[in-house]
Amino acid sequence: MVASTCSVNSEENSVKVFLWETKTTSESIEAGSPFWKRTILDPQLSLYIPALRAMGHDPHGCIYDVLRKPAQKPSAKGESPESYGRRCLDAIAADPARFFARGIVVRLQAESREAAADVWNTAGQMRDARRLNIWPRNPDSCMSWSRECEYLGVCAGLADIRDPLLFRFELANVEVDGTDDLTLLTQSAMRAYRSCPRKYQYRYVLRQRPLKKPETLATGSSVHEALDVYRRTGGDLEAAKAALVTEDLFIRAKEAAMLTGYAARWGQPTGIVAVEQTFRVPLINPETDAASRTYSLGGKVDAIVAVEAAGELMNPAALETTDSADLAPALEASVACEQIKTAFARLGTKDVEVRWSQAGKVWLIEVVRVADRTVLGRCTAELPTIEEALGRAVAYFSEEAR
Ligand code: SF4
Repeated sequence: MVASTCSVNSEENSVKVFLWETKTTSESIEAGSPFWKRTILDPQLSLYIPALRAMGHDPHGCIYDVLRKPAQKPSAKGESPESYGRRCLDAIAADPARFFARGIVVRLQAESREAAADVWNTAGQMRDARRLNIWPRNPDSCMSWSRECEYLGVCAGLADIRDPLLFRFELANVEVDGTDDLTLLTQSAMRAYRSCPRKYQYRYVLRQRPLKKPETLATGSSVHEALDVYRRTGGDLEAAKAALVTEDLFIRAKEAAMLTGYAARWGQPTGIVAVEQTFRVPLINPETDAASRTYSLGGKVDAIVAVEAAGELMNPAALETTDSADLAPALEASVACEQIKTAFARLGTKDVEVRWSQAGKVWLIEVVRVADRTVLGRCTAELPTIEEALGRAVAYFSEEAR
């Protein structure tokens, strides 16, 4: 496991501070995949790690906490959101390592210097673009990540950037602190400018954001918000699910399945020092060490954690993913509990909890109403493991609910 409960400043017991970033993706997240190779170049880390230093921390690198989205689509045959969510959860339970991975990424000094030069040069181009009011289009970016740019209609002359049915005015740095200060350079702003200066103009200069987010982006921010609550509450899964912001019931069911799987795979969040930390630090010229008079750098880190360091974690090429073998049973048990809860929801009782105990070789599984601790159902099973016993209980209670 990557997290620990040790104190932050204790060098004697090898506790080290790491930046913690959560990502959602549709790509493969297996060790050695292009996803992990790209983290070596990730400009966000190159910006956030020095920012953490400027905030008084001494980060040794970044722990990437990655969730892969299930590829399952709702069935065209009138499937309910609940049944779709169960299918997503089943897919996750069948192979948790495909859906959840953690890796440690560090920055060498040479990489940090190169990244600092990239940021400085990008900032110079952005400053010149603003001064000259030049925002060239980049048609090579109109389709990236298999989806069209949200401004394609405007650039194609089919829509108006001021159309209130398509776009709304939003503060420029709403993702950081809503300061609406264009001298604050964020990773998102620089990414937008690098991908297409015209996109940057629409989003950050005119401040017009699309009303409808593509599903991929919407799921990313919804799960992000929920995991923020999960960390803040010390691992309250129900509170995290309630914090999902997606309104579409099917997408929300998929996101809830991702959260259930995440909680089962990683357990309670530990080692958290701070969550959702915003920062504003000077932009430094890497050649002269002088601070920019135009820009400062800003952003929001997902969390700061303290973990026990291991030598290999300091190797920038080494990626550590936790072996799923010992976590898969926990995930299976969690999926089974969700299925039992669904069976009781069909019977009209939603607020229930599943608990179990063992007497000799027999497992006793009970379903309890949370409000008054009344036992609503009981199932016994003589099976070697609790995962198998819960599997039996799922069949039993599902039959009862039919
Ligand atoms: S803003 Fe840029 S990327 Fe987007 S559609 Fe226009 S030219 Fe293409």
